[in-house]
Amino acid sequence: MGKCMIIGCGGVASVAIHKCCQNSEVFEGIMIASRTKSKCDALKEKLQPTTKTVIETAQVNADNADELVALINSYKPDVVLNLALPYQDLTIMDACLATKTHYVDTANYEPLDTAKFEYKWQWAYRERFEKAGITALLGSGFDPGVTGVFSAYAMKHQFDEINYIDILDCNGGDHGYPFATNFNPEINIREVSAKGSYIEDGKWVETEPMEIKRVYNFKGVGEKDMYLLHHEELESLALNIKGIKRIRFFMTFGQSYLTHLKCLENVGMTSIEPIMYEGKEIVPLQFLKAVLPDPASLGPRTVGKTNIGCIFRGKKDGKDKNYYLYNICDHQECYREVGSQAISYTTGVPAMIGAMMIMTGTWKKAGVYNIEEFDPDPFMEALNKWGLPWEEDFDPVLVD
Ligand code: NDP
Repeated sequence: MGKCMIIGCGGVASVAIHKCCQNSEVFEGIMIASRTKSKCDALKEKLQPTTKTVIETAQVNADNADELVALINSYKPDVVLNLALPYQDLTIMDACLATKTHYVDTANYEPLDTAKFEYKWQWAYRERFEKAGITALLGSGFDPGVTGVFSAYAMKHQFDEINYIDILDCNGGDHGYPFATNFNPEINIREVSAKGSYIEDGKWVETEPMEIKRVYNFKGVGEKDMYLLHHEELESLALNIKGIKRIRFFMTFGQSYLTHLKCLENVGMTSIEPIMYEGKEIVPLQFLKAVLPDPASLGPRTVGKTNIGCIFRGKKDGKDKNYYLYNICDHQECYREVGSQAISYTTGVPAMIGAMMIMTGTWKKAGVYNIEEFDPDPFMEALNKWGLPWEEDFDPVLVD
């Protein structure tokens, strides 16, 4: 069918690459291009004997659009799948525009100095992508990603209008360390140390970090504390889903994680303000990343399950209706299949599916779109097929 260039070779990319290699009919060729080429070569060495997908590798600095343009021109992929960090989104989009290549990512652009979690920078590319006749699919991970597909599916099949969405992200996994992050620590810590917020009646309501706590009993996991966080898909879902009055995002955290985080915050280790240390400028959060366990190393030690999904409340045929769509994923099963834990797995699988939707022409619209703006049905089918089966509950316990 075609060729895909995958940028980045970290936790999420590794899963997406495994999945592309299981799906050689669509992914005839992939190029793994990242900052550290040895990681790309190691994956190629492991996977090439197991797959018909032809794997190539390259070194690239994705902060440099000219370098990307040259690489895209030499490989000529149908789609670029950006699995580097949010800081690289705009240079990669620039390179896609210059080469008229479709673009897919899993996280919105972030400037290095501030953590904003906003789509405005990427939405500003709409007209240019339309004119170039190419698609940018934004947020094809789990959250954002599957949560948007779930919302579009609920809207299409279950509701006339959706008034309330609660996105619940539960990680019941235990890696045995007192403190570690399940994905890129810099991104993770920026996310959880930011103020919380949700959208009510078209307006953002801001909370202190971790101010709003609820307890929920998750199927497959059990009872967990969860906290209201700001999350990027709130912004696009509030615009794209009809009738929204309130939309919130909750994530579970254990007490040990929160106590460590508070301490690190109090001593200044989570700051993104550069400081001078022995004559060299360092960013405390980046230094912290260097001393924490590599998320990729958590795979073999993490046991338990994740349960991520959305509770919808709205109206169907004039009557009130509640509906919960979720996926349960087992850390050890993921590890056995692709050598990664469930957090990378639940992001890497939808990333592959998003790229597949564009490559096969199943999703075809020139411009810049969030995932819920496409027909959810083929994506929902693919989730069942590629390792993230979903479950429905028509009488869920609601979050107050
Ligand atoms: P990792 O840190 O594990 O991997 C990032 C990769 O990008 C590394 O291989 C890194 O290279 C590479 N990279 C970083 N900077 C550059 C650069 N300038 N040029 C080329 N390559 C670069 O992160 P994750 O895999 O955990 O996360 C990947 C993305 O997925 C992030 O954007 C994250 O926000 C997103 N994400 C989305 C989720 C969702 O549900 N939507 C959930 C989890 C993550 P090197 O190996 O040299 O460090």
